[in-house]
Amino acid sequence: MGLVVQKYGGSSVADAEGIKRVAKRIVEAKKNGHQVVAVVSAMGDTTDELIDLAEQVSPIPAGRELDMLLTAGERISMALLAMAIKNLGHSAQSFTGSQAGVITDSVHNKARIIDVTPGRIRDSLDEGNIAIVAGFQGVSQDTKDITTLGRGGSDTTAVALAAALDAEVCEIYTDVDGVFTADPRVVKKARKIDWISFEDMLELASSGSKVLLHRCVEYARRYNIPIHVRSSFSGLQGTWVSSEPIEQGEQQVEQAIISGVAHDTSEAKITVVGVPDKPGEAAAIFRTIADAEINIDMVVQNVSAASTGLTDISFTLPKTEGRKAMDALEKNKGGIGFDSLRYDDQIGKISLVGAGMKTNPGVTAAFFEALSGASVNIELISTSEIRISVVTRADDVPEAVRAVHTAFGLDSDSDEAVVYGGTGR
Ligand code: ASP
Ligand code: MG
Repeated sequence: MGLVVQKYGGSSVADAEGIKRVAKRIVEAKKNGHQVVAVVSAMGDTTDELIDLAEQVSPIPAGRELDMLLTAGERISMALLAMAIKNLGHSAQSFTGSQAGVITDSVHNKARIIDVTPGRIRDSLDEGNIAIVAGFQGVSQDTKDITTLGRGGSDTTAVALAAALDAEVCEIYTDVDGVFTADPRVVKKARKIDWISFEDMLELASSGSKVLLHRCVEYARRYNIPIHVRSSFSGLQGTWVSSEPIEQGEQQVEQAIISGVAHDTSEAKITVVGVPDKPGEAAAIFRTIADAEINIDMVVQNVSAASTGLTDISFTLPKTEGRKAMDALEKNKGGIGFDSLRYDDQIGKISLVGAGMKTNPGVTAAFFEALSGASVNIELISTSEIRISVVTRADDVPEAVRAVHTAFGLDSDSDEAVVYGGTGR
């Protein structure tokens, strides 16, 4: 029996009852002979509430202090969880990210892990303890200041610790039974996926699926750590995310042609209208955006109307960066040369993901047919080897997701998708 890292999200430890339930689960794993490291998130919506509070005292809180504040959320849950485990007659010790050896760069609010030195965790485990670690936080190598890894970062903490401790598996406990073929909050007939490859999971994550963060899956792939996503509210098997298909009974789970449908309504679209159709224009636009440190997603350039010699360029980006991008472009209007800017935040993106589309003709056609059947108009299209994405009106997204899900035969016979907790905040 080896070492397991378990991660419990905010909705699993939302209140005292939740913490006691999780404590029992951890003790179960320990009784089964495992060494257990449990990574926890802040209770319920604590992180959002702390951010609200910070914004009440300062419209743009200092990054260093915001990190100091937010890491308190995870400290509360780790200490309570250790107490609850002791109350069950087992020994547990809690550790902050810094104590657990999570070393990061010095970028506040979205630090990257650069090393994990879990000496204290190892010692604690060897003494027979269950180790509880605060997720989402670390310490900067250069400044020694406390950092956070960005929203949802506890998953990354868990995978990073699993890699550093050479764990058998990283179990991510959440408020749904695993990774589904679509967001169960939108598609009632979404089906639980038994196994999915790192590659397909990465595409789903970058297309808006929120169950696992892109960075966490990337980390797991790099160190080849299998992730088991499952619910802390039920005893069911969840979804395995790994490089090779898992065995189930005698059979090997097969690679699906289509893994799932993801959607994202967190992006906005900027259209640069009246751009001269000559070399260097797109470069000037996207250099401006890059210099503002903004990541973009899709890009399209419309055909130039020959009579004017002008063209339009549209791109999508996170809504949260919208203001900054518009300001940066406006400031460089003279240098770039365009007529005007249009900003649209009522868009949504729907993506179909699956490695099988490489070898199965007709996937793109069937995707567009499903959208047309639901009378959904397509505004932008982008593809990768294993993904097709379209931008539509935000209002059309739920209908479009359901139509595509049905068209690709992904609907389950029963309503098996249960959402156990969380406010979806
Ligand atoms: N508590 C942090 C957040 O809500 C980190 C996490 O939940 O993973 O983003
Ligand atoms: Mg959270």
